Amino acid sequence: MDCLFCKLVKGEIPATILYQDDDVIAFEDIMPQAPTHFLVIPKRHISTLNDLTDDDSPIVGKLPIVAAKIAKEKGISDAGYRVTMNCNEMGGQTVYHIHMHVLGGRAMTWPPG
Ligand code: AMP
Ligand code: ZN
Repeated sequence: MDCLFCKLVKGEIPATILYQDDDVIAFEDIMPQAPTHFLVIPKRHISTLNDLTDDDSPIVGKLPIVAAKIAKEKGISDAGYRVTMNCNEMGGQTVYHIHMHVLGGRAMTWPPG
């Protein structure tokens, strides 16, 4: 399997890592769409949100918790930020290893594009 984020987890491609534990890793997005833009992913490969099972809930449940901790460290918590997970083509997913985007440092618009 040739997955970009699995390679990143294994250290085979570089990343600016913000946090990691046995289950999840967070790193800066390589093409930031806001002054703050980082990703939080499970270390285990899961291709899309559609592939989640009930067994995944402990690990996936950690994603927003880690996201919020890093957002606080980065000083964007009080002003607010956007959390997004894109699923498949119409959702705008380009990397098929699930990831939570965290964007902040500017006002977000709604509805998203
Ligand atoms: P999505 O379009 O929701 O699948 O998001 C994929 C995200 O991964 C995009 O925001 C990319 O900029 C980001 N990305 C792609 N390659 C890398 C990389 N090597 N390191 C960090 N972020 C990446
Ligand atoms: Zn993967």
